[in-house]
Amino acid sequence: MTVGILALQGNFAEHCQMIEKIGHAAVEVRTLDGLALADRLILPGGESTVIGRLLQETGIAKEIIRRQQEASLPLYGTCAGAILLAREVVNDDMDTLGLINISITRNAYGRQPQSFRADLAIRDIKHPVPVSFIRAPQIVEVGEGVEVLAEHEGLPVLVRQGSVLVGTFHSELTGDASVHELFVV
Ligand code: GLN
Repeated sequence: MTVGILALQGNFAEHCQMIEKIGHAAVEVRTLDGLALADRLILPGGESTVIGRLLQETGIAKEIIRRQQEASLPLYGTCAGAILLAREVVNDDMDTLGLINISITRNAYGRQPQSFRADLAIRDIKHPVPVSFIRAPQIVEVGEGVEVLAEHEGLPVLVRQGSVLVGTFHSELTGDASVHELFVV
């Protein structure tokens, strides 16, 4: 299995390291040819407006949507990646891929100084998982068909609909690969 990491901008290198650490091949995806090599795809944190624009310009957006709809391409979006996969961004007029039935608010915890770490209880993972929230979004509405795998202070922070997994936090910075393992099973 080869896991693609969308590498247009943001925190892709750390995701590659996590995937290799758990014994899978990782490929950085910057083009349609790169995407064709991937059996699954991680959309990393970064700046969602920048990644979103590049996704459209490269044609990768359309191809992700096609492969998800026709072949259930497994996707994992973290932070900015979560914003890009959401059906709706409440406080911004941006085009998303719309592949998971959630509404999300960008920068919902404030600016960089309000970034924080937390130990999350995640369904199917037996220990608390350390994660980082960095200028994180909040999932403000969970629609039909979406299951909540973890909450933080009463809000869903890790959700899944079919083969699309979305977390509002960074799971690639704290050395614990549990969420990556959950994604590749
Ligand atoms: N605030 C960023 C955005 O809205 C997301 C931050 C992140 O990915 N760490 O795009």
